[in-house]
Amino acid sequence: MEMSLEKASELLKKSKKTVALTGAGISVESGIPAFRGKGGLWETMDPMEFAHIRAFRKDPGKVWDVLLRTMKDVLEKAFPNPAHKALADMEENGKLEAIITQNIDGLHQAAGSKRVIEFHGSFARIICSHCHRSLPIQELFLEELPPLCSCKGILRPDCVFFGENIPEDALYAAQEHSMTCDLMLVIGTSAEVWPAADLPRVAKNRGALVLEINPEPTSLTPISDGLLRGQAGELLPQLVARVQG
Ligand code: NAD
Repeated sequence: MEMSLEKASELLKKSKKTVALTGAGISVESGIPAFRGKGGLWETMDPMEFAHIRAFRKDPGKVWDVLLRTMKDVLEKAFPNPAHKALADMEENGKLEAIITQNIDGLHQAAGSKRVIEFHGSFARIICSHCHRSLPIQELFLEELPPLCSCKGILRPDCVFFGENIPEDALYAAQEHSMTCDLMLVIGTSAEVWPAADLPRVAKNRGALVLEINPEPTSLTPISDGLLRGQAGELLPQLVARVQG
């Protein structure tokens, strides 16, 4: 069911604990393509061939070459957009408890958000699969693929591939917020990737309202309390202005 900005802002004003769950869609206006939806990477690429841990283990050079190198190039040029900034403003003004993000791009923190749970890890850190040494992405030069650590272990981004577990501390913190919020904003996610897709369902089962911001309906839309249909970078600043105004 589509919802107006006016109605959504009323609900936000009344909420005592709002949490945001964000996905790739919130960063599309920063120039980072999503996986699914119009223009998403999966229109031209098979996820199982490049984003599954089995694919990385089988041929890390190919995964670095096709997916990870592209992601690195794109992320280095990306800046927070008005949607990231609107969420940072909400937190600063005491209207947002936390952001649970499926994104690995670091743009919430770059926009000024402090309480960010990185559910799928981060591309800002690179780790060695063998000795677990960690280095910032800026120190990684992709002269040879796959990139190797000084111990000769294969370097990988510190993010979760399909087929891997969610980092425990992020999983527990996200579940805790989902169980205790009274409003969850679900922004720019297709709600197809589990267990992240379960979080709004957990919130809903505990009595919270679930509002989506997305240009398209998702698999969550039938159980959500409202869909604000459109681009997050246009709708979120308007919503936040109404709540704070
Ligand atoms: P997804 O690619 O499955 O879905 C993106 C959703 O965003 C779609 O429903 C689409 O309609 C919507 N969308 C597109 N443009 C939008 C806009 N301007 N405003 C609001 N919504 C918009 O994304 P997902 O559900 O996050 O799942 C994909 C997985 O891929 C995530 O787990 C994430 O880790 C990873 N990923 C991350 C990034 C990133 O860090 N920026 C980019 C691509 C993929």
